[in-house]
Amino acid sequence: MKIQILGSGGGEGYPALFCGCKHCNAARKAGGKSLRSLSQTLIDGKLLIDLPADTLSHFRQNSINFGDIENVLITHVHADHYCLNLFETRGTDFAPVMTYKKLHVYGNADVERLFNGYYELFPIRDEIRKNIVFHTLAPFESVKIGGYKVTPLKANHAPEQVALNYIMDDGKVALLYLLDSGYPTDETLSYIKSYPRRYSCVIMDGTMGVNYYVHHMNFSEDIKFKEELCGAGVCADNAKFVIAHITHNHCGLHEEIEAYFKDCGIIPAYDGMRLEI
Ligand SMILES: [Zn+2]
Ligand SMILES: [Zn+2]
Ligand SMILES: [Zn+2]
Repeated sequence: MKIQILGSGGGEGYPALFCGCKHCNAARKAGGKSLRSLSQTLIDGKLLIDLPADTLSHFRQNSINFGDIENVLITHVHADHYCLNLFETRGTDFAPVMTYKKLHVYGNADVERLFNGYYELFPIRDEIRKNIVFHTLAPFESVKIGGYKVTPLKANHAPEQVALNYIMDDGKVALLYLLDSGYPTDETLSYIKSYPRRYSCVIMDGTMGVNYYVHHMNFSEDIKFKEELCGAGVCADNAKFVIAHITHNHCGLHEEIEAYFKDCGIIPAYDGMRLEI
């Protein structure tokens, strides 16, 4: 399984659009891996996770054509994960040549509800609407999507909606994807530990850095979570542990995060990072 982390930043990007704090200014000066766009990941060039406003620049920078992608998973409808207006340029004369006529969008019930609510007020072309097919997922109910077994998990995040994390399983390896989430609840944790395949990669929420908030993980929880999974024997021997969704409010430059995790076997993501498991 090939994993491309297209965006490694938290909800407001890093540097944040409107912010002049010392971390944002340091990132603007340092550039490179300290510049983080909004959260988005692509599996094997064909299964997309989330749809932030940065999608256009991610796809341009990585030479990806969205018309070649048939399936999109949405974790939850926070704006940094679901910018539905991007659909307005799909098909018709905006994109007359596409590999897939229909785009399948998977997520919680609010993914379709938000789309329908918005375009009821500001109608979209019929031809665009009819080629976007929504599928509502429920936690712990696996579905087959484009050759993958995808299992939604109940994220400890955004309690006003059913925020989802995912296990992606291609029949050979499994990826555990926890963006966004606080430390998993006992219910989710016990499901994660009972999953029949060992995880070859875990991508975790590192939003809170050295601080704490119940609905995002911090760095010490990332270490604890890795130890908990390894202690339960549910990770492959050479499993990769990655943190992403990194924010200016709770940690510094990329090198500082690397230094924090130096002896822990956890690597901080950066925009454009590629992993193969
Ligand atoms: Zn987010
Ligand atoms: Zn800032
Ligand atoms: Zn969120």
